[in-house]
Amino acid sequence: MQDKTPSKLFPPNSEKKVLLHSCCAPCSGNILERMVDSEIDITVFYYNPNIYPQDEYERRKKENKIFASKLKIPFIDSDYDQNIWIDQVKGMETEPERGKRCTKCFDIRMQKTAEFANKNGFNIFATSLGISRWKDLSQVNNSGINAAKAYTGLTFWDFNWRKEGGSILMYQTSEREGFYRQKYCGCLFSLESRKIIN
Ligand code: SF4
Repeated sequence: MQDKTPSKLFPPNSEKKVLLHSCCAPCSGNILERMVDSEIDITVFYYNPNIYPQDEYERRKKENKIFASKLKIPFIDSDYDQNIWIDQVKGMETEPERGKRCTKCFDIRMQKTAEFANKNGFNIFATSLGISRWKDLSQVNNSGINAAKAYTGLTFWDFNWRKEGGSILMYQTSEREGFYRQKYCGCLFSLESRKIIN
């Protein structure tokens, strides 16, 4: 059990408005709750064209949308550019998780989030991707930092969401809300490799 309440969150540059790229409800659930508790003006940006097949994409998105709505958080439903994603990772199909394909996958998602943030008056953006222990946090953060560099005045909030018991809180929120337990990261290649392992 979590024995202490995590401290209030403070976005960079004393900003109160944040665009959070969310990969799914299990990863972003507790982050959303912490942001609401910290009185941050948050908007969820859902852009995950990596997820395969489309049924799985719709399932993850729907769950995320319902939870954001429960917390009265605006939810931006971006495009499902699956073909564009497949094109961009061509030649990296057999890369292991945490390898070059994942860097590209994070780049694609962070670039789209940065573009939306810049067009819609957000100075800060972040992502839930790094909370998962299956991900390389520095790999995720590098993609966010690089994406922000394309726009003057835009900052990627490279907060370590695993800190202060964040990983445990993530599981507690998921359990409480009965979120769907995903069996693979998201793309066709991670699905295939999971089938081989199992
Ligand atoms: S394993 Fe996950 S992070 Fe890596 S390319 Fe596939 S969906 Fe993206």
